[in-house]
Amino acid sequence: MATVSAKGIIIRQTSYGEGHRILSIFAENMGIIKAVAYGAGKSRSSSAASSQFLCYGSFELYQGSGRLMSVNRINTIDGFYPVCEDIYKLSLASYLADITYETLGENNCDDRILRLYLNAVYALAYRNESVKKVKTAYELKLMAAGGYCPSLGECVGCGSENAVKFDFEKGGVLCAECGERRAVRINGAVLNAMRYITGCDDKKMLAFSANDELIDYLNAVTETYVGVQLDKHFKSLDYYKTMLLS
Ligand SMILES: [Zn+2]
Repeated sequence: MATVSAKGIIIRQTSYGEGHRILSIFAENMGIIKAVAYGAGKSRSSSAASSQFLCYGSFELYQGSGRLMSVNRINTIDGFYPVCEDIYKLSLASYLADITYETLGENNCDDRILRLYLNAVYALAYRNESVKKVKTAYELKLMAAGGYCPSLGECVGCGSENAVKFDFEKGGVLCAECGERRAVRINGAVLNAMRYITGCDDKKMLAFSANDELIDYLNAVTETYVGVQLDKHFKSLDYYKTMLLS
């Protein structure tokens, strides 16, 4: 039985019993962990405000004899309120949290992916970046960091350098001759942007320029790639898309 401290961000919260919450905290040196915040679901609780989605802070956790840790205290560093107060940005942060959860699983330490997620949420909160740009860059960067980096050099079928299609299942580019069922056409601008995102320094994942049309196309490609590679349909993505239309 011990108390541990860790910096992290709450990426999911669910109600638990009478007025409690289970928090999924993406923490430094620990990965995604679950802990119970007792009483956090009660409206008058002092911990209710801090035990919310996207609260980034220092968590004091207690590991008792039970399976789950409990949250003793949260010292909030940043609540990312500009995201929490904007339902469109919030829906994206929620979807990005879900794909991160699915990619990494629980209790797998990955401080690189933690920093990527924090960078994405920070950009949504404080930088004048388009929501769609943050989405596509994070989707592809997460895939690259999580072991699903697509092959964007030569055709994955024959080795030709003339890549004109992207195959979601093989996770790579194809030439005109190598036809595949689940492949889409990609032009040079799309390919260059994808190469930039997968290859750039993590902190610079948004430092590329693209017009709206290119961002839309990139979004369609990276979003499908995430769904096919993780073999999962994300309800939070559907919700984000309803926000997009409203
Ligand atoms: Zn080929």
